Amino acid sequence: MGLLYQQGYFRQQIDRDGNQQAFYPYNDPGQLPIMPLRQSNGEWLRMEIALPGYTVWLRAWQVKVGRRKLYLLDSNDPANLPVHRGLTSELYGGGPELRLKQELALGIGGWRLLEALGLNPEVCHLNEGHAAFALLERARSFKDKTGVPFDAALAATRAGNVFTTHTAVAAGFDRFAPELISRYLGRYATEKLGISHRELFALGRQNPDDMHEPFNMAYLAMRGSGAVNAVSRLHGQVSRDLFSPLFRRWPINEAPVTHVTNGIHVPTWESSAADELWAEACGQGRWLGNTETLAAKIEAIPDVRLWELRTTGRTVLVEDVRTRLSRQLTASGYEPELVERARHVLDPNVLTLGFARRFATYKRPNLLLHDPDRFARLLTDSRRPVQLIIAGKAHPADGAGQELVQQWIQFIKRYHLLPHAVFMSDYDMRLAQRLVRGVDLWINTPRRPWEASGTSGMKVLVNGGLNLSELDGWWAEAYSPAVGWALGDGREHGDDPAWDAHEADQLYNLLEQHVIPEFYTRDANGVSTSWVARMRASMARLTPQFCTNRTVREYTHNYYLPAAQRYHARAADRGAGGVEIVRWKRELAEKWGSIRFGELHVSTAENAHTFQAQVYLNALDPAMVRVELFANTLDGVTPIRIEMKTLRKLAGAAGGYAYGATIDSARPASDYTPRIIPRWSDAAVPLEADYILWQR
Ligand SMILES: *Cc1c(COP(=O)(O)O)cnc(C)c1O
Repeated sequence: MGLLYQQGYFRQQIDRDGNQQAFYPYNDPGQLPIMPLRQSNGEWLRMEIALPGYTVWLRAWQVKVGRRKLYLLDSNDPANLPVHRGLTSELYGGGPELRLKQELALGIGGWRLLEALGLNPEVCHLNEGHAAFALLERARSFKDKTGVPFDAALAATRAGNVFTTHTAVAAGFDRFAPELISRYLGRYATEKLGISHRELFALGRQNPDDMHEPFNMAYLAMRGSGAVNAVSRLHGQVSRDLFSPLFRRWPINEAPVTHVTNGIHVPTWESSAADELWAEACGQGRWLGNTETLAAKIEAIPDVRLWELRTTGRTVLVEDVRTRLSRQLTASGYEPELVERARHVLDPNVLTLGFARRFATYKRPNLLLHDPDRFARLLTDSRRPVQLIIAGKAHPADGAGQELVQQWIQFIKRYHLLPHAVFMSDYDMRLAQRLVRGVDLWINTPRRPWEASGTSGMKVLVNGGLNLSELDGWWAEAYSPAVGWALGDGREHGDDPAWDAHEADQLYNLLEQHVIPEFYTRDANGVSTSWVARMRASMARLTPQFCTNRTVREYTHNYYLPAAQRYHARAADRGAGGVEIVRWKRELAEKWGSIRFGELHVSTAENAHTFQAQVYLNALDPAMVRVELFANTLDGVTPIRIEMKTLRKLAGAAGGYAYGATIDSARPASDYTPRIIPRWSDAAVPLEADYILWQR
């Protein structure tokens, strides 16, 4: 489910001075592979959503993506006031208010469309917090169908919601001013959800009583989901840190965010030559099942075939860049002589670097320009030349990003680099496809840890392209010396200019001392055997791992199937499970403050520690808690947790119990701390209840 942005993001042209110009051509839906969704009477299916003082109609569209259907909504309906027809025209356009309207259209309108189509999904997977209003609408619908209150409806439905967070900095979360939320969602909360404004705000705030705290969409997503994941291993750590304020007193590593590393859809990004080679080695159906057997088959491909794959890819790319660049320069008003020169840029036999991404400052698109003299020398070396293709858009409101585009254009001009370095305008998926099929080396220079995953580097793998990248996002888990090159030291350095300078130096050194010599050292057949060895390792080990086959399998087994099961369990019997969860949380809220630890006795004998803890639960039902021993582990990721069992009731104390556990004494007893946490059938803790009491 998504929005149909009829003007997309924006189209980029670069003028002769290197200024980025933004265009917003209207994408005529009649020219797109999409279809209006019609009702049985032939009328266009439309959803109505209430905004303050008026309603907006959203038209429903259908896109067929392979065997799947994608539904889109747009507001360009003649029934709407002119001012509302453009609500969904641009991605990342306008300010917070427009953004909020778009998110209401997506979340509330989107869920309504799914229901209007009779789809009744069991699992709702949120791609980032932007879509989180869908959780409210899903709960509202469940409440109306079953008659349970909103909190029970949310408790029942959240079990079927999965939230994937994508940002690596708190500033990346969508946050709205309280006044905007009150204006747009106040009536929806009281009339549709049946909750107070305070209850609504509590879902999007760290502190429900702070009337000034903005409404955070990622927090809403957290409170309305049964599972939460980040998009790479490193991003998992970063996200646990970002969300740890919602789980106070819990160790940061236990903040309930796991990870599924992204992958790319290989058939979309592979060249026809790569397709042929892979089909020969691994068969036609290689991307239909699991990919575990592919590596061995790729290992067996002869050197010459791999080297030819590179040569073909590079040759096709060079031809394509020549055509595209001459059109691009004509459009920017360059004189015919220069346009003619564009038809002869680059060389199909020269080591080809690619650098293309959004020009956001954290991606450091100018790191290669740190020492322009040195970089220009490297490009124009007559014995071992290098060529570079670069592309990227800066957000139209991001002046700093646009300046970086200009720096590249001016660098190419000042050093007369046209045959060796080209800036391709209007980076989009089509251009990305061509680049990743042809380049020998893909460079990525984000500031660790701000690249949550990154996917562009994965797209070169199948085509035999190699990566030289910062140890961030996916590359932090993919890199080994055999498959490519790593930038940085695997640690965080913020935006320290001295560290940027150091990394720029490291980048030039890698190119000069390792990448370039390796590419140009050839055997008797003209093949670089060490380059080919690296290609083979990268293709065999990384392609099957960083593809959507692996990603979707992980989501299915670890998230979707359990979520569907838990949702059915809670939704059964008109949401009885949801009602129970609410009762459990109410009990915890009322009684947690009164529980406490008494004495702890530890004895050690015969390689075992025996712990006995006195616990006073007072009026709290022992079935609602778990008493356990906790110890950190060296990796800090998965701590040791050992359940303590009830041994007996304590004499003379209502609600007093002795809990005990015996463990081996490999680690000193002082490493372990007893603690009490909530427990209830299938509830996710601490995601659904973040209480915790430590013995000390
Ligand atoms: C793959 C892709 C991206 C994502 O690139 P990263 O550099 O990994 O963030 C962005 N834009 C386009 C057009 C892409 O094809």
